[in-house]
Amino acid sequence: MLYFDYNATTPLAPEVKTLLKEAIDWDLKNPSSVHQEGRKARKTLEEAREGMAALFGCDPQGIIFTSGATESHNHLFETIWKNRPRDRDKIIISVIEHTSVTQPLEALKLKGAKIVEIPVDSRGVLDGDAYCAALDEHTLLVSMMLANNETGMILPIPELSKSAYKMGVKFHADAVCAVGKIPLSMRNLNADYVTLSAHKFYGPKGMGALLMGPDIDISPFILGGSQEGGRRSGTENLLGILGMAWALEFALRDLDQENARLLHLRKKLKEGLQKIADVVFHESDQNLVGTVNVAFPGHDGQNLLVRLDLEGVCASYGSACHSGTLEVSKVLLAMGYPAEEARSSIRISFGRMTTEEDVARLLEVFKKVLD
Ligand code: PLP
Repeated sequence: MLYFDYNATTPLAPEVKTLLKEAIDWDLKNPSSVHQEGRKARKTLEEAREGMAALFGCDPQGIIFTSGATESHNHLFETIWKNRPRDRDKIIISVIEHTSVTQPLEALKLKGAKIVEIPVDSRGVLDGDAYCAALDEHTLLVSMMLANNETGMILPIPELSKSAYKMGVKFHADAVCAVGKIPLSMRNLNADYVTLSAHKFYGPKGMGALLMGPDIDISPFILGGSQEGGRRSGTENLLGILGMAWALEFALRDLDQENARLLHLRKKLKEGLQKIADVVFHESDQNLVGTVNVAFPGHDGQNLLVRLDLEGVCASYGSACHSGTLEVSKVLLAMGYPAEEARSSIRISFGRMTTEEDVARLLEVFKKVLD
């Protein structure tokens, strides 16, 4: 099997797998229990939080553990809307946001929220004029992704948040696709809220976090036993938290060196594809190196994907990673690519476990399938 769908989910890091197997044997108890076993579990939990906080350069109390980015987004939008100043009812996003952002916001529209979508051009550049024009004293929140899951294009979050703060607007960055791929800290991102998901950086699925900058807080969304400082109830997923903290360390290790290796693989892949077919790459100057979104004009992307699958290659088409269906990419359409080109496009994403040999084998499969 050739796995080239890292943006849908990454493989679990082998060392995280080993550590998790050991941790199962620790049989950790409930971190909220006051007895010594509970205190031991609490200590383990807080050490994982502190480890992650050190890697993100944030206060440990600025981390809320959640079941993933989808929960974090629902939490953020619902509570920020509930507690809004009466005169702020506008939320600004880009046209290329993930459904875990757009769908909760659709629900807020029914409660009166005004959602403004800012265009992004085919090179991944956000329309700065439209953005600045939309930001006003009625804006409650800006929510933008740091890196796009379909194209890997990176948005200039620190610049965008600077403009938002001038208008007293809170800023959220969906960093799901960027964590473990580009160096980032709460300080250099300059966002009030940052969301992430462990299964996108070699950790377990169903585990994520909502990070908050200094002086920022959030009210609870899931109510119950007041865990996570009263901000997210429910007995903590201790194994998931440990797995995520270990995965983050793994993902960030020798990041520059790893990105140089991936850049080399990207080059090989792109050159190889150009030799096999007339291809069009959808990318920007600032792109995740492990994401290649490519159109094969004259071919049907769905068909291509199914044929690749029959040859043992896992890649992705449009929004398949979350809907389970093969839909034409809404992101490419929103960026202004013609429907026919979007329909002929597929996403190839790779990472830490991908070798040069994998890329060479992938190119062989492409040649066979396209022939
Ligand atoms: N944001 C982006 C950019 C994503 O790619 C995804 C998942 O594909 C999510 C959010 C949702 O993350 P989760 O799977 O943790 O709910």
